[in-house]
Amino acid sequence: MKDTGFTTNILHADRHFGAEHGAIHKPIHTSVQYGFERVEDLIGVFQGTIKGGYNYARQGTPTTAALEAKITQMEQGLGTVSFATGMAAITAVFLTLLKAGDHLVASRFVFGNTNSLFGTLADLGIQVTTVDATQASNVAAAIQPNTRMVFVETIANPGTQIPDLAAIGKLCVDHRLLYVVDNTITSPLLFRPSTVGAGLVVNSLTKTIAGHGTALGGAVTDTGLFDWQAYPNIFASYRQGDARHWGLQQIRKKGLRDMGGTLSSEHAHKISVGAETLALRVAQSSATALTLARFLEGHPAVNRVHYPMLESHPQHALAKAHFSAGSWLLSFELRDVAACLAFINRLRLPVIATGLGDTRTLIIPVAPTIFWEAGAQVRADMGIADGLIRLSVGLEDSADLLSDFEQALGQTKA
Ligand SMILES: *Cc1c(COP(=O)(O)O)cnc(C)c1O
Repeated sequence: MKDTGFTTNILHADRHFGAEHGAIHKPIHTSVQYGFERVEDLIGVFQGTIKGGYNYARQGTPTTAALEAKITQMEQGLGTVSFATGMAAITAVFLTLLKAGDHLVASRFVFGNTNSLFGTLADLGIQVTTVDATQASNVAAAIQPNTRMVFVETIANPGTQIPDLAAIGKLCVDHRLLYVVDNTITSPLLFRPSTVGAGLVVNSLTKTIAGHGTALGGAVTDTGLFDWQAYPNIFASYRQGDARHWGLQQIRKKGLRDMGGTLSSEHAHKISVGAETLALRVAQSSATALTLARFLEGHPAVNRVHYPMLESHPQHALAKAHFSAGSWLLSFELRDVAACLAFINRLRLPVIATGLGDTRTLIIPVAPTIFWEAGAQVRADMGIADGLIRLSVGLEDSADLLSDFEQALGQTKA
């Protein structure tokens, strides 16, 4: 279905990839075991000679496979492996493809738990260098003979920094490095990392793609652009058959079969249903986010607003070049840092909660919460000001949100 649009493809994927009893939605397959008429078929599934077979649900079910097919289609990739959470997907990428003695170059502006995971990698003997990836020259300067991978996020949470995506992609091609892009905030609707040369794309399905805050999930998509034959860490057992599938095969076998970070069929179903309205939700929340960003930027009580589609954003040109909208993520700082908590308490609509990409607007001061454990030094390195407030803009009527912010800011001193 190459010539139909983004949403049309999602809506009709289950039918086109094999309807069961005419069911419009892929059924929720709850079976852990899969039985066979002939033992040769069971052997074939184990040995991979029978494609699309299932043996034990830890490696996937027809329901998770249907979701994986949709993500692959959205990212226009080669294939996808789904995981229980976005963090499980990221962990699987690092632990199945890197080993002690390897080096990873990563953006300094990443999700807090990903940053925390870098510490675990360091303990395992995988060296990590974090850099300001808004300049590709910083990435270039960090590359060493043992560098295997470069990891960035499209729009960093919470500071909204944008790496020089295309220039880093070119660097990775020149140095034959695996380029991994976390596309969570943008989602394949606003940006496809394959357009800048990413070999692997990570999506936390929990956020933009599921969209309703009722299911956790993650995915790794192979874009087909990376040459796995040139990658030293593919085990001999996966260096067989079409080399384009080696990387994802290893991620599935090690990440799901051995490490067990499996997405349940129930959650795969919820995420699939959520994905049907992805384009509508992101259009609405991005439009409201831009309206709020402009309002906040013009308000005397507000010190700084971080939103990629504002002309004042340091990487505004990059955002315009790559993303079709600015997403639902925005952050800002009040002039009076001490007024921050009282201001948040005065808001009536945004839910005071951690989390992102819900239908409801969520608000959180990040320094005393998500980045508390990281400490002042890490916060400073990551560009997180003490009074930084993060907003995940939901689907409420935009006029309601605007008037709520007006009343709450009206009582804040400029
Ligand atoms: C939330 C998030 C993750 C982790 O996803 P979970 O599904 O919550 O584990 C990874 N990357 C980014 C950019 C995120 O915002």
